[in-house]
Formats: sequence, structure tokens, C-alpha cells
Amino acid sequence: MTTTRSATCAQDALGRKDGTLSCRVLIVGGGLAGLTLAARLGKAGLPVIVADRESKKARAALPFDGRTTAISFGSQQVLDGAGLWRPLLPDAEPILDIRIADDRQPLFLHFDHREMASESDGAPFGHIIENRLIRLAQFAALDDLKSVTHLAPATVTAIDRTDEAVAATLADGTQIKAEIVIGADGRGSMVRQDASIGFRRWRYNQHAIVCTIAHAKPHAGLALEHFMPEGPFAVLPMTDAPKAKGAGVDHRSSIVWTERPARADYFLGLSVADFNKALNERMGDYLGRVRLLGDRFRYPLGVLHARRYTDMRMALIGEAAHAIHPIAGQGLNLGLRDVALLSELLIDRARLGLDLGDRGLLATYERRRRPDNATMLATTDLLNRLFSNRVLPIRAARGLGLEMVGRLPPLKRFFMRQAMGLGLR
Ligand SMILES: Cc1cc2nc3c(=O)[nH]c(=O)nc-3n(C[C@H](O)[C@H](O)[C@H](O)COP(=O)(O)OP(=O)(O)OC[C@H]3O[C@@H](n4cnc5c(N)ncnc54)[C@H](O)[C@@H]3O)c2cc1C
Repeated sequence: MTTTRSATCAQDALGRKDGTLSCRVLIVGGGLAGLTLAARLGKAGLPVIVADRESKKARAALPFDGRTTAISFGSQQVLDGAGLWRPLLPDAEPILDIRIADDRQPLFLHFDHREMASESDGAPFGHIIENRLIRLAQFAALDDLKSVTHLAPATVTAIDRTDEAVAATLADGTQIKAEIVIGADGRGSMVRQDASIGFRRWRYNQHAIVCTIAHAKPHAGLALEHFMPEGPFAVLPMTDAPKAKGAGVDHRSSIVWTERPARADYFLGLSVADFNKALNERMGDYLGRVRLLGDRFRYPLGVLHARRYTDMRMALIGEAAHAIHPIAGQGLNLGLRDVALLSELLIDRARLGLDLGDRGLLATYERRRRPDNATMLATTDLLNRLFSNRVLPIRAARGLGLEMVGRLPPLKRFFMRQAMGLGLR
């Protein structure tokens, strides 16, 4: 769908007159968080416009980001509420076990999803899904929702918020009127900047190398996180895929390999054969021989936390509000918790026929989401600092910590609840 401005007074296919569109909720940014919010609101019949500066074609392409996401048990419920879980299920690999190992120490922690059966009815810890496939499911779901207009490519360049309404302008001059604007536009959020909301930010001296591998043995649903001095090295189970050539399937896993930036340059610069050699050395033989499938991607790692999530007729969700270290695979899961609460508040108010830009609603959202996000941000930051070093007393404390978690069932349960996105209890 394009956003080319129509001739004045003519009504175009999107129903805009004089280049103006109207909706109740405008979502700036159609990343994984923004599109999930659009689908949840659209399922409730709310008129929504979601605008993203990238075309759908570019975002659906294989080399777009190469990433997978660990969708926690809690996030699965959010996607289900948006009508997205069922179409994703065939491409979702269950995480049945999690193993955490520390550098070269013999101790490791093992979490088995069956230990949580009383709370989760035997459900896995979560599922690994390719981001590209989540996006495709989102595009298809939005196409079926009559009250949602998905504009892409469409860059929001200006936002004017008053007591009465929101008016946004797209790069092509189209005007959009709404009761509330949601900033789902990622770390560099223009919605956040437009509201002059400051943020705390720091960068880690770490880059993540992300790629998909094929391996000889099946992974049996095991997610492995190996803490190395340079940062975590994660091997996440993916669905099998038909082999590119010949019969049979490739067993697949997703790799998130953290390195210092210069070492990341080195590994990314290796030939495929040498990279495969380095991978096999790093992984040992628990999956048999491994080899790279497709491209390698690089992500510099850092943290960002907005000082506020709301302003007049505006709320931030996902990475526009908070971005964390991927050490625990929780970034999008937090964004989906934002989506769950905000959609519930907006849908309840819409049912009562009330203004969606209400200050009370915004205050509730801020009050209930900030502590959860701040806690996860601090926890993942601490974990990364604790594990990504060789300092001897810290290594000893880590060993003790792993042993304690392994031996104390309530503590172990606490970590498993976090992994499942079930929150504090
Ligand atoms: C290596 C790595 C591994 C990760 N693994 C996991 C994991 O296992 N589990 C997990 O939960 N999380 C994980 N994350 C985090 C997760 O990927 C992100 O939190 C999530 O993708 C952020 O989604 P978002 O929709 O908030 O933002 P984004 O994906 O950044 O989307 C923002 C969108 O806004 C659009 N946009 C920006 N400005 C404008 C504008 N002015 N007008 C219109 N559109 C605009 C952009 O085009 C973009 O599509 C990982 C992150 C990394 C780096």
C-alpha cells in the first residue's frame, strides 16, 4: 500500500479526503511491537492506522535482519489475543530445556519445562520463531482486519498534539488525525524526540553476531546459553527446514554470538569455511557437525530507557521506550507486555465510548509498565556484567550463584518464571 497524496477533494482508495486520513489510534512504527498492537486493537474493531517507513517487501525479505525471537509463554498469550499465535505455531520451535554454562567451569544449570508443569500445564518455556515469519503473519493478519490501515512505506515527519486531538504528517504530505499517537518507532523514536522526552543510554563493548546454522543431530528443544568472558554465546532451537539441495531436512538452530567489536570484525570477515571451523570449535560436538546457513548479521549492543513513557495524547511502547541486552532474550517480550496492557486500557475505554487520549489512562500505563521494564533492564545489565568477565572473585561468586540456584528450588523456580514471562510472584 502506498501513501501517495491524492488530488485535492478527491477521495482515494484509503478513504482520505484532501490528503487527510482519520482514525482513533495512530501507531508510528510497524516493527514487531507496533504491528502486534495494531492487530489487537483491530480485532476489537478500533479504527487504527499504523505507519512504517520501510516497505513491506523490504521487511519480508530474507536478508532483512536474520534474527529469531524467543517468545515466552506469557508473550504467546499476547500474540494469541492478537490472532497471531495460531498462524505462527507451525514455525515455532518449543524450548523444552534451558542449559546455562559458565565459561570453562564444570558446573552448569539445567531447567526442564516439566518442573513448571503445575503453573503452565506442561507448556514449553517459550518458542523460537524467525522475526521474518512473525512479520509475515502480522502483515497477513492486518490485511484481514477492516478497521486497520497499514501504511508502508510511510515516514511520519511531524506530530502536532493538542488537548483535543493529534495531527500527524507523513513525508508525502498526507495528514492523519487521531485521538492518541503511539510511538512504536524503535530506539531512535521520533515520537519520543518530538515530545522532548530524554533517555538514559549506554553501549556495551560488545557486538552480537547473529546467524542460522544447520547441524547433524537434532537439538531436542534445548536452548543453550554459554557465558564467555566476551559475552554470552547462545544456541537456540529452530524448526527443521527442507534441505536446499536434495532430500531430507536440516536441523537448525539460531546463534547469538557476543564478541568485542574487533573480534566480531574478525569472525564476520572469515570465509564461510573458516567461520564454520570456528563455529565447530566453539560448539563442541553436542549437535554434531555444524555449518552456516545464509548470511551473518551484526548488532552492536546497548541499553536505552526513556525517562517517561507518556505525554499529552501519546504513549511509547517497545524499544521506543526501553531497549535491553539480549542476554535473556526478553526485549520483545517486554514490548509485548506493553502491548497487552495498553491495548486492554484502550479497548476498555473505547467500549465505554470515551476519549482514548485520556490522561488517567496514560498515567495507569506509565505506572504499571515502568517498574517491570526497569527491573528487567537492570537484571539483564547485571547478568551481563557479572558473566562477561574473567575477574577471579567474580568467577568464584558466579560458580556459587549457579550452584545455589540449582540447589534451591524456590530460586530456580523464580528464574524459570522469568524465562516464561510469568513475572514476579
Ligand atoms: C541480537 C538480538 C537478539 C534478540 N533476541 C530477542 C529474543 O530472543 N527475545 C526477545 O524478546 N527480544 C529479543 N531481542 C529484542 C527484540 O528484537 C526487539 O526488542 C524488538 O525487535 C523491538 O521491536 P520494536 O517493534 O519495539 O522496534 P523496531 O523493531 O525497532 O521497530 C521500529 C519500527 O519503526 C519504524 N520507524 C522508525 N521511525 C519511523 C518513522 N518516523 N515513521 C514511520 N516508521 C518509523 C522502523 O522502520 C521500524 O520498523 C533481540 C535483539 C537483538 C539485537
